[in-house]
Amino acid sequence: MGVIKFDVITVGAGVMGLSIAAELAENGLKVAVIDRDEAERHASFKAGGMLGAQNEFYGDSPSFRLARASRAYFKPLSESLLETTGIDIEYRETGLIKIADSSEDAENIRRQHAFLNGHNEKVQLLDENAVLDLSNQFLRPNEHPAMLIPADGQVNANKYTRALTERALINGVTRIGHTEVLSIERLGESYTVKTSKGIMHAGKVVVTAGAWAQELIEPFGVQSSITGVKGEVMLLEHPGVRMDHTLFMTNGCYIIPKRNHRFLLGATSLFNDYSAGMTDAGEAWLWKEALRRLPRLKGANVLMKTSGIRPYTPDAAPVMDEVHDGLFLVGGHYRNGILLSPITGRLMSKWIIRGGRPEGLQEFTIERMKTDAMHHQ
Ligand SMILES: Cc1cc2nc3c(=O)[nH]c(=O)nc-3n(C[C@H](O)[C@H](O)[C@H](O)COP(=O)(O)OP(=O)(O)OC[C@H]3O[C@@H](n4cnc5c(N)ncnc54)[C@H](O)[C@@H]3O)c2cc1C
Repeated sequence: MGVIKFDVITVGAGVMGLSIAAELAENGLKVAVIDRDEAERHASFKAGGMLGAQNEFYGDSPSFRLARASRAYFKPLSESLLETTGIDIEYRETGLIKIADSSEDAENIRRQHAFLNGHNEKVQLLDENAVLDLSNQFLRPNEHPAMLIPADGQVNANKYTRALTERALINGVTRIGHTEVLSIERLGESYTVKTSKGIMHAGKVVVTAGAWAQELIEPFGVQSSITGVKGEVMLLEHPGVRMDHTLFMTNGCYIIPKRNHRFLLGATSLFNDYSAGMTDAGEAWLWKEALRRLPRLKGANVLMKTSGIRPYTPDAAPVMDEVHDGLFLVGGHYRNGILLSPITGRLMSKWIIRGGRPEGLQEFTIERMKTDAMHHQ
């Protein structure tokens, strides 16, 4: 296997592991990223790529502030990834039309509008005509309120994850693929990482194993409460439909316009489901919800049906913490992992190199999971 001693090993080559590893390597550390590379299970390659720094929030919180700060990284990041890796991650400031799906959700939309408009006065409630105009007359009139959320852009998550991989390799990161991490053990001053292909050592280990993080940190007596929420998506192509904004329904179905007349249609939310691939029920639900709002999508070519598993915590906020001396857990970014990855890479690498929890990460402790577990007893 060649060199088996690293300064830092990150377990998991999703957007979290890659963002942290690339920053560490840029700062001169010898870093390995290990992944078992199982198709249709990891989240990063399969995500919608929405940068929902407003859409996902209904009130002020540490996650909201982190999300807005992270969104600001994307424009310069997309330019620098294009320059260094040659990959265009398709960053676009498309904005989003959010539509309430029931009278219950109508109240939530109004509440969310009041909150978001206080931060960005361009967030506005839309009447029926405005929805029709903004969607080039393609959307069906909605009986419940809708809202325009400008500035929440998007990227192509698949290309973004590939670009992060390239950047990490260019920075000198060793990517060890098709290799399962079986266990992590503390041995003296360093860590022993047992894998399906042999043993490696590292001064520090970062567990960025997405929905599977818990099993790796359990031997340290740590309870992350991270579980998986499967999401199914389809990539469609329809040259006859022209939508500029993402359409997001409060029941979780969304249609994201991509390049070349393509639309990403997502996503189901199946809690504690770790299976791979699209189910018939998932596909039927996606079609039903999409055609209800955008009937012209009927007849679109289906280019891809796939799935990914989002790492979820009970309070839907991530855990970013040092859970043992030199052992870090970074996960549970749930529906916002693409959005939050640049700032996570920046702040976590700072922490790992210099020590001391950086400003902005105070709230994302493992400790709060204990309280949470008690509430759920
Ligand atoms: C359908 C869907 C739509 C989404 N849409 C959006 C969106 O629009 N915007 C947004 O910001 N976010 C979105 N997300 C969420 C986002 O994709 C995730 O939050 C993010 O990708 C999580 O990154 P990660 O690196 O923590 O996990 P992952 O990408 O899952 O990476 C974890 C990696 O760890 C590896 N691994 C696990 N255990 C081991 C082991 N023992 N040994 C070796 N390797 C291991 C896995 O193979 C995997 O590659 C979406 C997710 C899904 C599934």
